[in-house]
Parts: sequence; C-alpha cells; structure tokens
Amino acid sequence: MEDFQRYAVVSCHVERPLDDRVWAAFERLLVWRPAGFVVTPFIRPPAEGEDEETWLRRARRAAELAPLGHHTHWGGVSQARPVGEVDAAAHVRREAEWLRTHGLEPRYFCGGGWYLDGPLAEVLADFGYVDCTATTFRQTYLADDAPRLQLAGPSRVQLPSGAELLELPATHSLGMLARGLLTLDGLVHVHFHDWELVDRRRALALHVLLRVLRLRRAPLTVGELAERAAGAPLATIAS
Ligand SMILES: [Zn+2]
Repeated sequence: MEDFQRYAVVSCHVERPLDDRVWAAFERLLVWRPAGFVVTPFIRPPAEGEDEETWLRRARRAAELAPLGHHTHWGGVSQARPVGEVDAAAHVRREAEWLRTHGLEPRYFCGGGWYLDGPLAEVLADFGYVDCTATTFRQTYLADDAPRLQLAGPSRVQLPSGAELLELPATHSLGMLARGLLTLDGLVHVHFHDWELVDRRRALALHVLLRVLRLRRAPLTVGELAERAAGAPLATIAS
C-alpha cells in the first residue's frame, strides 16, 4: 500500500469566477479551509469577451490562498469538452501561455468534462503540470470511445515523446462522497464546482461531508500529494 491511502485532497472546478456571488462564496471557502482542507482551485481562464482584468485580480487572489490550478472549458462556461474541429491541445497551450504572460503559473491542471488525449497530455507535460483530469470512476454520460483516462490511483503516465505526466485522479464528486463515505477505500480526491457553493443545499452538504471526511482521512494539499506520489506506478495513455 502507498502511504497516501490514509489521506484526502479536495479540489474545485472554478468555472464562474466572474460571477460576483459565486466568486465571493468561493473566496470565503479558500480563506476558511473547511475542516482543514486547502482546496485547490482549478480556474477556467476567460473566454473571448470575458472581463480579463477582473479575472486576473481574482486568479491572483486564489493563488495567494491555495496552490493554483488551471481548468479548461473548450467552449466557454457551458461547454466543457471540445466539440467539432477544436484542437484541444493547442487551446490549452494558448491558455497556459496567456496565464504565464500574466504572471500566473499554475502547477495543476484539470480538463473540462474529464477530456484528456495524448497530444493534450504532451502539452501538459511541456508546461510541467501535474494533471488531475483522470478519474478512478467511469462517467456514464460519456460514450465508450470518448477521450478520457481512468486510473486506479496516482500514476506516472509515460508519453510517446518520452515525457512523464503525474496524474492524481479524482475519486469522488460530492454526491459520490455522500453515498460512499462509510465505505471509503484508499485515497480520496473529491471535486466540486464553484457554482455549487451558491446552492444552499449543496453548500451545506459540502461542509458536512468534509467534516465527516476529516474524521476518516487526513487533509493533504495537492502539492503534498504530488510529492508523495512521485514513485507512483507507471501508466500509459492512448496516443
Ligand atoms: Zn468545468
């Protein structure tokens, strides 16, 4: 057994950082560190026409409070996975460069809709990201051949170029955690969305679940988990 099995990490897909109410709730959560969890914000860069100045101010604030992550939606706020002729890898390369041009250097990545393919994995390795797009579970709403990566736990993915990409898969959504809290097995990486924080029922569920999770698993930051996973098993991804 790896020594990270007794731990839990929490990350958030920050999809609506320009919505004042959503942002305020999320910023409070980052400051608060519920049940001792440092939440990793995977933040979606602004799409065409979105307010870059406000976005940058909020992303810099997030980076002060937690290890910053990069989330991508290939079609704006409501279209997570790439559709049509979109070059998924080139899109992420442009975003990663734009972030760095503006002094932001997220170390962690999570693709929208859990989209991951070989060329995208190469881009992520190029920028030195630790990736959290893999999942330990299968999404029933995705087609059998939809590009994604399922892994049993943290893994070092060997890429065709020879590069290596560390994957820290998500294990639970909030709903899955609620259903599985009493039968947890191994490392927990729970994810939620920033907009869930302005839904009173979901926000309450998050706080209760993290408190109970804290009784069963010790909090790690995503960076601490990455360090512990440095010797994780090898894996591959279809190119
Ligand atoms: Zn998303």
